[in-house]
Amino acid sequence: MAFDLKKLLETRWGENYELHGQYVNPQLVKVLQTIGFDKVYRRAEGQYLYDESNNRYLDFLSGYGVFALGRNHPKLKQTVKDLLDLDLSNLVQMDCALPAGLLAEKLISLAQSHGNPEIDTVFFTNSGTEAVEGAIKFACGATKRDRILFLDHAFHGLTLGSLSANGNAEFRDGFGPLLPGQKILLEDIAALETELKKKDVAAFVFEPILGKGLYVPSTPFLKEAERLCKKFGTLMIADEVQAGLGRTGKWFAVEHSGIQPDLICIAKTLSGGLVPVGAILYRREIYQKVFSKMERCVVHSNTFGKNTLAMGCGLATLHILEEEKIPERAQVLGEKLRAGLQTLGAKYEMFKEARGLGLMLGIEFHSPKSLKLKTAWTMIHAMNKGLFGQIIVVPLMGKHRILTQVAGHNIDLVKLLPPLIITEDDVRYFLTAFEQVVAEAHRFPGSAWEVIMDLGKKTLLGKSSDEVEKVMAAS
Ligand code: PLP
Repeated sequence: MAFDLKKLLETRWGENYELHGQYVNPQLVKVLQTIGFDKVYRRAEGQYLYDESNNRYLDFLSGYGVFALGRNHPKLKQTVKDLLDLDLSNLVQMDCALPAGLLAEKLISLAQSHGNPEIDTVFFTNSGTEAVEGAIKFACGATKRDRILFLDHAFHGLTLGSLSANGNAEFRDGFGPLLPGQKILLEDIAALETELKKKDVAAFVFEPILGKGLYVPSTPFLKEAERLCKKFGTLMIADEVQAGLGRTGKWFAVEHSGIQPDLICIAKTLSGGLVPVGAILYRREIYQKVFSKMERCVVHSNTFGKNTLAMGCGLATLHILEEEKIPERAQVLGEKLRAGLQTLGAKYEMFKEARGLGLMLGIEFHSPKSLKLKTAWTMIHAMNKGLFGQIIVVPLMGKHRILTQVAGHNIDLVKLLPPLIITEDDVRYFLTAFEQVVAEAHRFPGSAWEVIMDLGKKTLLGKSSDEVEKVMAAS
């Protein structure tokens, strides 16, 4: 019988959660069902998802950041179709394929013209974590050192090397021993210097804006870190897997501080959301130390990294980002969104601040002063530290069909990571919905608190509070 994927999907729609519950990740299924996120999306276009009844959802999560251009961008779809029609030789391995060369050329030109003139070499990967893994390995190989420094709250991926640079115990616990290293508190330049002085540190790995907690390391901190790393022979790895390629309003997030890291990791956006891809952009001197002679030309390599579909999507994505001036757009709309949140939030006592860069924003809440609300706040936090954010995220989805997430352990933070192609109307829609949800959360007793307490009870009873917290905080 001929294989007919369309028909297969058509006949099996609706079995999504059952299949995942049985074969993939039953804990995730439980979490999604508990918070009312167990939708069956049938199609997507740009920044919108559509369910079985054709209800429209505004996606402020963008697949953890891969859909900077939204879903199913016509130019990206055309690129994939064109590539398939060309019947190109793909992954010959013992050749040098043109698409990878072209994408490398473009990435280097972008890096050099956006503040990093010394970046001149590319290594392609299949994911963000693989880019960070590779960068750490290159740094160890080039410096002949084995320790890494990373920031509190850092998230660099979940394979063992990247996990070693993770600043959240919740992710690390249960998986040791990891690579030797040391966590540095945000802005603690003295601690950084103490570690660097030991002259055994291969790399300082950092996110120019942290995906967990949405903290932005200050320019003085990063500049001083750069100076100290140079002084003590440590390489700087900027993890721009989430923040890079326009998300923060600049092509590269390190442009905000003006520092020049030795290695830059990118991924997510580069894929156009269609074909996984990542890259390490780095200096030739590091390449020469790692790939030091002909016999070592594949001392670090992978099978799929330079595959034609990924390279084609990368080229098309960069073209669209440039042509549609997407980084500039992210800057303008991000500022509107942040300023709008800050203005409306100021009216509510649990709202602390809206922070971030471009369209990578976090909204933090803090303990209220009024007695009634404080009692409710304390109760919820006693139930589960990751629960409060759900008082915002759950009704945003349930009442307004907006997809968001909580992000950051032990802080009450809702994260916004929308596609960079959102419109002013989307921003207005979000702000109106957000205000309603925040206003509701300030009424105690009230339905918002009932829902969240019920959620707390369910997670406690189901003994899945950790899973809820972890999944909801996953990036
Ligand atoms: N680095 C950062 C900053 C990320 O945000 C992520 C994922 O969210 C990663 C690395 C890991 O990327 P991937 O999920 O593609 O492995």
